[in-house]
Amino acid sequence: MLLAGSALAQGETPLQEKFDAALSSRDQLAWLKLTSSEPNQVGSPHDKFIADWELDQFRKFGWDAHIETFQVLFPTPISEAVEMGSFKATLQEKPIPGDTSATARDYALPAYLAYQGDGDVTAPLVYVNFGTQEDYKQLALMGISVKGKIVIARYGKVWRGVKPLLAYKHGAIGCLIYSDPADDGYGEGEVYPKGPMRPPQGIQRGSAMDMMLYPGDPLTPGIGATADARRLTPKTAGSVLKIPALPISYADAKVLLAAMTGPVAPANWRGALPITYHVGPGTQPVHLAVKSSWDIKPAYDVIATIKGAQFPDQWVVRGNHHDGWVEGASDPLSGQVALLDEAKAFGALMKTGWRPRRTIVYTSWDGEEPMLLGSTEWAELHADELKKKAILYVNTDGNSRGFLHASGNQDLGTFVTGVAAGVIDPEANVSVGARVRAKTLTAAAAPGANAEIKAEAKHLSDPGSDLPVGAAGSGSDFSSFLDHLGVTTLNIGFGGEAMGGGVYHSRYDTFEHHTRFEDPGLAYGKVLSQTVGHAVLYAADSNLPLLHPADFARAMSGDIGKVEKLADSQRAAAEEQKTLLAQHAYAVAADPTEPHGEPVPLQAVPNFDFTALDQAGEALTKSADAYEAALAVHSATLSPVQAARLQALMQTIDQTLLNEDGLPGRPWYKNLIYAPGRYIGYGVTTLPGVTEAITEERWSDVPKFIGLTAQALNAYAARLDEATALLKG
Ligand SMILES: [Zn+2]
Repeated sequence: MLLAGSALAQGETPLQEKFDAALSSRDQLAWLKLTSSEPNQVGSPHDKFIADWELDQFRKFGWDAHIETFQVLFPTPISEAVEMGSFKATLQEKPIPGDTSATARDYALPAYLAYQGDGDVTAPLVYVNFGTQEDYKQLALMGISVKGKIVIARYGKVWRGVKPLLAYKHGAIGCLIYSDPADDGYGEGEVYPKGPMRPPQGIQRGSAMDMMLYPGDPLTPGIGATADARRLTPKTAGSVLKIPALPISYADAKVLLAAMTGPVAPANWRGALPITYHVGPGTQPVHLAVKSSWDIKPAYDVIATIKGAQFPDQWVVRGNHHDGWVEGASDPLSGQVALLDEAKAFGALMKTGWRPRRTIVYTSWDGEEPMLLGSTEWAELHADELKKKAILYVNTDGNSRGFLHASGNQDLGTFVTGVAAGVIDPEANVSVGARVRAKTLTAAAAPGANAEIKAEAKHLSDPGSDLPVGAAGSGSDFSSFLDHLGVTTLNIGFGGEAMGGGVYHSRYDTFEHHTRFEDPGLAYGKVLSQTVGHAVLYAADSNLPLLHPADFARAMSGDIGKVEKLADSQRAAAEEQKTLLAQHAYAVAADPTEPHGEPVPLQAVPNFDFTALDQAGEALTKSADAYEAALAVHSATLSPVQAARLQALMQTIDQTLLNEDGLPGRPWYKNLIYAPGRYIGYGVTTLPGVTEAITEERWSDVPKFIGLTAQALNAYAARLDEATALLKG
C-alpha cells in the first residue's frame, strides 16, 4: 500500500529534486580515496583523522556537529603464532602492487579476532565444518570429541563469533577459522587482483565477542562507556571469549587440513581445497598462541544535527560506521561517503532557507567492527532521550551495486515502498522498487525455487503490495536501537551483484577493489544517498506517522505459525530418536570400521498452549486493518492538534514490543519480536523468547514467553486502537 495522499507515491517532489541535484558520485569517489588510504581500525591515527575530517565537513556543510568520545576496551595483538612441526602460518597478507595495500602505511592489524581469550595451547586439530550446533550433532554421531583439542572451522552459515563460542562450550581449548575457497575464494570466481574473490593469502579478521549476550564495550554492559563509568575487567566481562582463536588464510588452512587423519569428512563438510578432507583428530599437534594488549582506547562518534523548525524534540537519526578492519573501502566507507554526500545535500537545502520540521541527527560511528562499540555506547548513554525523541533510526553499512534490501521494523514496509518508488536504478532504468519486484518474481519462477521465495513472489505480484522489510537481528549499528531501545529501525542498502565477500575484512578491501568490482564510479553510492536522503526528508517533514501496521501484522501471523510448527517438529524428532535408541538402531547401522557414537539425546517436548499467541496475532491483524481503514478515510482532514496526538501515539509504538527484563540469560536484548539468534549470531530469530525456549529445551520458559510475547503484541494492538479512535474523532 502506498502512502495515502503523500508525495512519496507520486515520484519526486521539487525538494527531493533539489536534494538529488546536490549529490555527486565524483565527490564520493574523492572522499572514498582519502578515507580508505590508510588502515583505520579503532585507536589508529587514521581512524582519528577520519573523525576529525568528517567533523570539519559537517560544519562546512552548515551542520551543528561535535565528536562524542567513549573509552572502550579494544585489545590488539602483541604476538601470535599458528605452527605445526616446522610449518608456520603467515598471519599477515602481502601487499599487492597497484593496490592501496602496497601504498598504505604498514600498521595494518595482522590476522586477529577481537575479544578472543589469549592463550598458548598445543593439541591435535579437529575439523568441525562450519562449527554450528548441527555440526556438533554430526560429530557426536561420528563419535568424535573436541575436548582438549583445537578446532578448525570454515567461515560461513553462522556468524564468526558463534564458532569459537560453541568450540569452547564443547571443551575445545583453541579455535582456528579459515575462508574455504568453496565459499569465499576461487570456487566462486577469479581471485584478486584478477577478479574480486578472496586470494589464497586473504584473511578475514573480525570480532569474536559473544555479542549474542550483549554488544558494545565488554566492560560497561547497559551503560555508556564514559571516562568515569563503572567497569568490569576483561576477566569478568561475559562477552569476552575464554580460549585463544585466530583467523587464517586458505593457503595456510590447506597445509593443516592436508596433514589431518581420521575419518573422511561427510560430503557436505568438504570444501574446494584440492585435498581429502578428514575430520581428525589429527596426529600432529598444532601450536596456537595469542597474546594481546588489553587496552582501553578512545572511540570517536561524530554527531551532527539540523534542528527541526517545528518539532525540535522529534528526531530522525541516521548512521553508518567509519572504522574498518584495515583500509575498509567497501566496509564501511562506501556507506560512509554516501552518508556524507547526503549531509552535503542537506547543507545545500539549508542554504536556500529550508529547515526540516523535525530534527535530523547524523551519526558517524566508531568501533563498529570490534562489535558495535560507538553506536551501542551512545545509545546506552542517551537511552532515555532516544526513547522519547527518536522517531526513526536509519542505518547503512558497506554498499555495492545491485538490489535494494531493507530490514528492521516490519511496520516500515509502506514507507520503504514509497521511498523506493521515487529512486531510479542506474542499471535497469526503472525505480529501485520495481527492480526488487522483478528480481523476486523471476527468482521465484526459476526451476528449484523454494517455497519461501514463491510465497514472497505471490505477495509481490500484486503491484499495490508493499516491498518486504526483512526481520533483523544484529550485524551492524542498528542493533541497540532495534534490540535494546525499541526505537523504530530501518537497515538499508544495495548489493547482490558484486561478489563482495572476496575481500571482506581483509587487507584488500581497498579503493581499487571497490571501484573495480563493487561499485564502479560509485553509481550506487549516489543511489544510496538518494534513497536514504528521501527517507530522511520524508520522515523529518511528514504530516502523518511513518508506520503502517498491516505488513507487521502479516509477518507476525507467519512467525506465530512457524514457532508452533517448530514445537511440533521438535516433538516428533524427539519421539523418533527415542524409538531408534531403544532399538539400538544407531549402533546396528554404524560402520564398525569407523568411529561412531550415539546422537545427542533430545528431551521429550511437552504440549504447549499457544492460544494466547494465536489470539494476539488475530487481534493485531484486526487492529491493524481498522487503523489503516480509519487512516485512509480521515488522514486528509486531520487538524494539526489531532495530527500531533496521532504522531505521539505512533512514534513510540515499536517500544511496546520490549520486555524490560529482556530475554532469558541475556537481559540486554529486550525486544520480544526480533533478536540475533543465540547460536546463529547476526541472523535473526523471530519471537526469540518462545523460539529459543523450545530449541534450548527450557520448557518452563515456553508458556512464560508465550504470555509475555502475546502481551507485547496486545499492547501494540491497543496502541493502534487508541490511534484509530483518535482518527475517528
Ligand atoms: Zn561494516
